[in-house]
Amino acid sequence: MLAGKRSEFVLDDTVYLDGNSLGALPASVPDRLADVVRHEWGALRIRSWTESGWWEAPERVGDRIAPLVGAAPGQVVVSDSTSVNVLKAVVGAVRIAQEETPARREILVDEATFPTDGYIAASAARMTGCTLRPVPADAMAGEAGPSTAVLLVNHVDYRTGELADLAGTTAAAHRAGALVVWDLCHTAGALPVDLDAHDVDFAVGCTYKYLNGGPGAPAFLYVRADLAGRFDSPLPGWNSHADPFAMESAYAAGDGAVRGRVGTPDILSLLALEESLKVWDGVGITDVRAKSLALTDFFVRCVEAYVPAGRVRVVTPAAHERRGSQVALRCPEAGAVMEGLIARGVVGDYRRPDVLRFGFTPLYTSFGDAERAARVLAEVLAAVPGAASAEAPTEDAG
Ligand SMILES: *Cc1c(COP(=O)(O)O)cnc(C)c1O
Repeated sequence: MLAGKRSEFVLDDTVYLDGNSLGALPASVPDRLADVVRHEWGALRIRSWTESGWWEAPERVGDRIAPLVGAAPGQVVVSDSTSVNVLKAVVGAVRIAQEETPARREILVDEATFPTDGYIAASAARMTGCTLRPVPADAMAGEAGPSTAVLLVNHVDYRTGELADLAGTTAAAHRAGALVVWDLCHTAGALPVDLDAHDVDFAVGCTYKYLNGGPGAPAFLYVRADLAGRFDSPLPGWNSHADPFAMESAYAAGDGAVRGRVGTPDILSLLALEESLKVWDGVGITDVRAKSLALTDFFVRCVEAYVPAGRVRVVTPAAHERRGSQVALRCPEAGAVMEGLIARGVVGDYRRPDVLRFGFTPLYTSFGDAERAARVLAEVLAAVPGAASAEAPTEDAG
């Protein structure tokens, strides 16, 4: 059903299993971007802020992402990086929690979090007079208590590919009176998320991974509709003002998704992302999930069939409800093995010290790709001696 989508991407005969770091290029983006540069910037210049719809692009593109993460329109803005949005969301959530109960002075952070979330959460804690306590994602539900303000959780562990329990953890946080911020970097565009259905408070996520927006494409921020009016951003730039062109000295926050903005949007990246999102037209995210699970199941079966026992260990959970859209293999020689794979046209990535990651993007990854990757992995392992080896060949965005 999704097989026809592959032709909408620029690909070659490389087996590309790194779409969880940088999604492939949708074929219509180069022409659209050239038109934005030549016509909208080159010919219309300043007029494009109004005539080409640049000014509203952060909310317009947000509304294009919204259905992919289960959000009704008006709650998602595309702006800044995920790192910056983590700060907005965590500080914003703590401020809401403390408005009700000032004694809530603890932020729980996913112990295995992608590092940027942890660094930013530590700063958010200092800004709000909170302490930061690392807790395993699957233990968060039980750890949230009367002094907890906010939980910050990665929906998928970027190393192991383990999927956290969004519904259960969110419900438990709410029972404890806390708010929850989900980082959807490895799930937006990979599986159904259902933010509205589960009453998620805040969510952030990348657009350059499974959403194929391009290197450094701006991230998204979701604020649940009934919290939007209480969202007090720690970065209240002029773009989030109720009347930015009044140029008032006093700040007054705008309504709705606009509140998540900071400064002038990154128009070229934003419009490249908008064009990229057209590949989702007519695609159901549940079909994407079904293919993702079939691909990752099949890849694991191929690895088990081709690779001699004991050379690699699958660390991604076998249970579908605990698996994202990647397969991670532990292997002591992972660095050298990934180097060998890339040299033979199979691109995954390596996370120190010993993890091989293979990301499956159902819009363009085929079962043939999965089979070839496992076969080449077995060939590379046969050529790489079983001793521990050195350096990282590829280290890029998680
Ligand atoms: C990729 C990733 C990020 C990246 O954040 P940037 O600000 O875009 O560099 C953050 N969090 C998680 C969980 C990620 O996987």
